Amino acid sequence: MDGCEAVDRELDKVLTKFGGIDAHVERTTTNLIHSLSRLQEQFETDAGDFELTTTQASIVCDAVNQAREAVGRIATEHRDLHSTVSKVGKAIDRNLNPDFGTITRDGIFSGERAKILTQVVCQHLYRQGMLDIGDALCQESDQELDSQHKEPFIELHRILDALKRHDLEPALLWATENCEALAAQGSTLEFKLHRLAFLNLIKKGPKHQSESIRYARDNFCRFVKRHEKEVQVLMGSLLFVPGNVEASPYGHLFDNTLWDDIQETFTRDACARLGLSVDSPLAVCFAAGCIALPALLNICQAMQARQVSSIWNGKDELPIEIDLGKEFHYHSVFACPILRQQASESNPPMRLTCGHVISRDALHKLASGNKLKCPYCPGEQNPNDARQIVF
Ligand SMILES: [Zn+2]
Repeated sequence: MDGCEAVDRELDKVLTKFGGIDAHVERTTTNLIHSLSRLQEQFETDAGDFELTTTQASIVCDAVNQAREAVGRIATEHRDLHSTVSKVGKAIDRNLNPDFGTITRDGIFSGERAKILTQVVCQHLYRQGMLDIGDALCQESDQELDSQHKEPFIELHRILDALKRHDLEPALLWATENCEALAAQGSTLEFKLHRLAFLNLIKKGPKHQSESIRYARDNFCRFVKRHEKEVQVLMGSLLFVPGNVEASPYGHLFDNTLWDDIQETFTRDACARLGLSVDSPLAVCFAAGCIALPALLNICQAMQARQVSSIWNGKDELPIEIDLGKEFHYHSVFACPILRQQASESNPPMRLTCGHVISRDALHKLASGNKLKCPYCPGEQNPNDARQIVF
């Protein structure tokens, strides 16, 4: 990330310089063209053959010299730009590693995996609302993506677009259709949508006051238990309808925060309702890769320098542990206390009869025949009694 920022700084310098030169060139050439065309017009109005007087000749000479000088200056400025641009290239070379070959395996994305990767990219595009690009990718890569991967996103984006335009109708319709499921997952979406609809009525002024009250009666009753404070605040805002409610102590209800919040709430709750993750899996992998790559590149360089790169046999585990930070913690991962390896599908955690848990490989290593002594307590048992644990 630091590398990207360093390149970004160089890029900013180039853009500033570009902007400056652009404005200057524009100004100079306009002036130049203007004065030369004036001169040309003058020549054309002086009809017939004539000879230039000395003064006229010197005016023409001056104009030509001026033009030559200006063009020379522009050329020099343009040349200076080259060095600034080439600094960006150097910053990229200095800050970013172009060779990721050492930390990947040949053919990792070939065959069936290439197909899966394309599907993941398509799903990401659909998720971002870039439906036509997703369709084009499917078509060009000769893949048929199940419509169930696409349709939920089409609907989500249609509703989100409406919310961005401050149109609550589609979202309210969706929330009403799914109200039971939303309530079961503890969603606040429906209340927040009705709150915005109510505030829209309030904003319309005193003429719509009775309509606002009716809306509140019809819709807020079932939310009072859970959102008592918020409903009280909304009812309080009614007092200021005859005046200017947006300049009242309730003015904060009308800034854009509630609209930003509703888009977030809708995306989160609708994804949960549809069984989708809020973040795109591809975006999460990419972000995790950006954090992990620098550390991996460093360790690979160190391993190569010491000629021990074969230690990392390129299987399903990394040569070092990389902490991606809390936001990447999705579920607990079991690490075997004996072999100090993370559990995997082929080496899952096993619960011994005494309650201690070790990996299956460790279990096999510790067992002798039908006997296994737990490494943590004196319990002796049959290794076949151990049960696999699924987190
Ligand atoms: Zn034990």
